[in-house]
Amino acid sequence: MPFNGLGLSESIVKAIQELGFTKPTPVQEKTIPLILKGKDIIASAQTGTGKTAAFGLPTLDRLKPGKRIQCLILEPTRELAQQVEEALQDYSKHMDTRVGVVYGGVKYGRQRQMLEKGVDILVATPGRLIDYISQGVISLKKVEVLILDEVDRMLDMGFLPDVSRLIKMCPENRQTLFFSATLPAAIQTMMKWVLKDPEVIEIGRNHVAATTVTHAFYPVAEQQKYNLLIELLTRTHFESVLIFTRTKVNADLISRRLERLNHSVATLHSDRSQGERTAALKGFKSGKFEVLVATDIAARGLDIAGVTHVINYDVPLNAEDYVHRIGRTGRAEKEGDAFTLVTEAEVKNAKSIEHYIGQKIDRTKLEGFDYMYSALFDAEEKQAQRKASSRMYGRLRR
Ligand code: AMP
Repeated sequence: MPFNGLGLSESIVKAIQELGFTKPTPVQEKTIPLILKGKDIIASAQTGTGKTAAFGLPTLDRLKPGKRIQCLILEPTRELAQQVEEALQDYSKHMDTRVGVVYGGVKYGRQRQMLEKGVDILVATPGRLIDYISQGVISLKKVEVLILDEVDRMLDMGFLPDVSRLIKMCPENRQTLFFSATLPAAIQTMMKWVLKDPEVIEIGRNHVAATTVTHAFYPVAEQQKYNLLIELLTRTHFESVLIFTRTKVNADLISRRLERLNHSVATLHSDRSQGERTAALKGFKSGKFEVLVATDIAARGLDIAGVTHVINYDVPLNAEDYVHRIGRTGRAEKEGDAFTLVTEAEVKNAKSIEHYIGQKIDRTKLEGFDYMYSALFDAEEKQAQRKASSRMYGRLRR
């Protein structure tokens, strides 16, 4: 079905055609007609499925510009808030609707001015929004559409009490759109009092990594992890590489060491200032930095195109995060490589990734790298030998 079959107005269809969207994604096809009818929805779509347009397009269509906050969109991180605001600015470029964004970590001045001028749609992270409400700068009394995005992330980050407070400040008579990739018990409890007779939309959970991504596990002893990373970077022809670490400390450490080797590097994690985070992301997207070192919390859901390689310096604890991490490469049918360094302590997590994506990942040895004793390779070799000898024994018995 083309976009103009969904009931959207001409000015929106024109804007999305200019963006090069030719047909709606599955989540857009399912949600747009329901949102246009004013229904509450719960959608389990993940980032990358086109969910921003799924909630953004029909909402823009329904609102009449009036410079009061008619639609509030809550996001867990500043980067996601910025990304959603930018997308809405693009979608609404042929309309008079005003879109604004507020998040913490930056000065109040410009955000305050924007709020005082008036916006129709406000994208916000919970903490800074509460600040403005308690200062009396804005109120949520005129909100007609409340969009809660990435609710499971907000739960992980401890924002649910703030989110609940904000929901209670909105009028009861409103439309609520609820997006969460997973629905743990705390979220199900919240859904009961937040939504009215919602339609549930499930978009198949994305266990599967893009087929254009080549995966490899690189078993290595803990002490040699960094050297192997450097060797991989030296031998790989990459245009842009995203390195994931589990901790902020490791992200900083690796960035500093790579800088000393004259790589152009940016770092993204939640302890960096907002200015640094914005500059890192912008610089990486524009090609100014060839390497971005990031933690999961900062990078989840970000729409970064054209990454040729993802290197997991640490195996993610959560198999789902692996799919998110490598989802940054191999986008839009481009080829991408995903390398994961695996120490002995991480084997269990590595195996659960294979189980989750339903695919065995090759254990790869970097030729010529001066490996110290690695129990990992030994264990795998022994297992292979045991399997071979039991096959042989079976054949002899027959
Ligand atoms: P999201 O899941 O909202 O983060 O969107 C992921 C990416 O898909 C963004 O770069 C969008 O611009 C893009 N996108 C969204 N909808 C469509 C569509 N119908 N056709 C092509 N690209 C789209």
